[in-house]
Amino acid sequence: MSVLIVEEVRKTYAGGESPVEAVRGVSFTLAAGDFVALMGPSGCGKSTLLHLCGAMDRPSAGTLTIANAAPASLSDDELTKLRREKIGFVFQFFNLLPTLTVQENIALPLLLAGKPASESDKWAAVMADRVGLSHRLNHYPQQLSGGEMQRAAIARAIVHSPVLLIADEPTGSLDSDNGTKILHLLANLNRELRVTVLLATHDQKTSDSAQRIIRMRDGLIESIEESSTKPHEGSRSFISLPL
Ligand code: ADP
Repeated sequence: MSVLIVEEVRKTYAGGESPVEAVRGVSFTLAAGDFVALMGPSGCGKSTLLHLCGAMDRPSAGTLTIANAAPASLSDDELTKLRREKIGFVFQFFNLLPTLTVQENIALPLLLAGKPASESDKWAAVMADRVGLSHRLNHYPQQLSGGEMQRAAIARAIVHSPVLLIADEPTGSLDSDNGTKILHLLANLNRELRVTVLLATHDQKTSDSAQRIIRMRDGLIESIEESSTKPHEGSRSFISLPL
């Protein structure tokens, strides 16, 4: 089953002195359980493509199918619902809310989806434990190390059991050791939860975990390399998630 189908997608940013063609006709497909790395030099269009794949932005041309939905036919409200229910995001700079504790940050997607607070808190604690943060539940983001902040952000991104996890340079602001640990965590979650992962990175070590590497240059796919890593098979979920 395909989780993401990208067909001849383009994105042109208007404004400024001249339009910027950030993505210039890109096609690829992600099957359920894939772990795919998007690589390429800064400015080649990786973030723009991730935003399109995560239904955070609309393409200028081409079509996307995300978790069997066609974003082009959805209203902005329906797009928000698609994002909240089916997609998880991890960013380079974590994007945790500074006034909320780790547990509250992780619980947020469940609360936004209308889950009761007690259930949301319970699952946030379960996910914090899964990413190795059970001892930090009541800490605030500024009390955490970079690696811990990214762990909290990953727990928040998967707490609602998304089918697609999009990570934009998740190791980009971490030291090498913590970056490696975060990549291993993402690879383990991909295997255990069978969540499909699409990750943009400069980190060559990612190729150890990824089943496929999509290399971009100047808004186009330059190559798609299959790695020897086997696709993750078996049933989704190592734990009974709430949604
Ligand atoms: P990458 O993630 O590979 O560094 P980006 O997708 O961020 O690449 O950027 C691709 C191109 O699009 C760059 O030339 C960048 O300057 C431009 N760009 C990105 N976002 C915008 C925007 N909101 N408005 C105008 N140009 C943008």
